[in-house]
Amino acid sequence: MSDAINSFDLSEEHRLLQDTIRRFSREVVAPRAQEIDAAAQYPQDMFDELQRLQLFALPFPEIYGGSDSILASCVAVEELGRICYNTAYLLIVQWVPFGAILAGGNQQQKDKFLPGLASGELRSAIAVTEASGGSDVAGITTRAEAVDGGYVLNGAKIFSTNSAIADFVIVAAKTDPSKRHGGISVFIVEKNSEGFTVGPSENKIGSRGVPSSPLYFDDCFVPEELMLGAEGKGFQLIMEAFNKSRPIIGARGVGLAQGALDLARDYVAQRQAFGQAVGDFQGVRWMLADMAMQTEAARLLVYKAAAAVDDGLSGKALAPVAAMAKCYATDTAMKVATDAFQLFGSAGVSTGNRIEQYFRDAKVLQIIEGTNQIQRNIIGKHLMER
Ligand SMILES: Cc1cc2nc3c(=O)[nH]c(=O)nc-3n(C[C@H](O)[C@H](O)[C@H](O)COP(=O)(O)OP(=O)(O)OC[C@H]3O[C@@H](n4cnc5c(N)ncnc54)[C@H](O)[C@@H]3O)c2cc1C
Repeated sequence: MSDAINSFDLSEEHRLLQDTIRRFSREVVAPRAQEIDAAAQYPQDMFDELQRLQLFALPFPEIYGGSDSILASCVAVEELGRICYNTAYLLIVQWVPFGAILAGGNQQQKDKFLPGLASGELRSAIAVTEASGGSDVAGITTRAEAVDGGYVLNGAKIFSTNSAIADFVIVAAKTDPSKRHGGISVFIVEKNSEGFTVGPSENKIGSRGVPSSPLYFDDCFVPEELMLGAEGKGFQLIMEAFNKSRPIIGARGVGLAQGALDLARDYVAQRQAFGQAVGDFQGVRWMLADMAMQTEAARLLVYKAAAAVDDGLSGKALAPVAAMAKCYATDTAMKVATDAFQLFGSAGVSTGNRIEQYFRDAKVLQIIEGTNQIQRNIIGKHLMER
């Protein structure tokens, strides 16, 4: 059913991409998905495969080898996320810094970092969240003090995903601590910079294949040519990068929901109770029908938001559209994964069964890139202020 509906609004090229990634996910990624989660090990083999398929530039302009389409990127992430949350994540952790440099970087910075990110030769991460809180971005306290030729960073970050592997990290810091939003600037901090340390990775319940780590800045000098965008304009730069990537996080929610539904459907089709397949009970079919409807509604919202980015929507107009896609699709992922888990009964509780991974990963999706309460704040603000 979803195959037919998927063709709605997708071009020939999108459908070709969808078929290719679907086949790749089933043949190459699926055999590794459970192992990556269980071992909580960075899947270098999956990274190599994505590099071979030249997917790291997918959302970006053709000069970098991309398709210049967030919608195409959503289609790819959905198919990967249906099978393996962590492999889909490998693309997104690369795409967010790419988008930030593309939007805010000068030509020299673009020339230095974007070709490497596009080919996969360079890896990156974003560091905004601090121990004192992630939702209140304007409240960060990491300090960047202007000195001769650059800035000196002092402070700490938490949960910076991919930073343990990254060649450079995009770091938000206060250049003017007397201000909130207007005091934030963004810096590109390279791996071996003196005074920059990556701490031990978190032991997470979900999203286990891509490490999230604390970062420490102890008198870390960053040359002025590595400031991204103008001084004091970091908040807008980060928010716009998040706005553009939120449909993609939504796509990961859609893929997760679809994958959980696939597993549940297959399970109830063969599981017997009261002398018949569990999937033949009307109550169970209604659950599956609700899961399918919710997933499809999320898919359409995500595609619409992605197409809006491709059509050039940005800033305040994009914010609520992107927030709706991220919030609805990831809430749907949690709801559908919970119902799928329920349909597995005790088999779902066993850690040998894949459905419990979907359940754990779905929770993470509701928290990253702005929690779903924060998405609702963005939508509510738009409703009340227009
Ligand atoms: C797996 C994972 C990967 C991550 N990767 C990164 C990364 O790469 N880079 C990075 O910078 N950060 C990353 N984060 C951090 C993430 O962005 C933050 O966890 C998130 O923004 C929430 O911040 P917090 O956890 O400090 O929660 P808090 O901000 O402390 O919020 C606690 C609770 O209060 C709610 N809340 C807060 N303010 C409001 C409000 N105004 N209205 C209603 N409710 C509110 C929140 O929704 C949440 O439920 C990652 C987190 C996880 C779990």
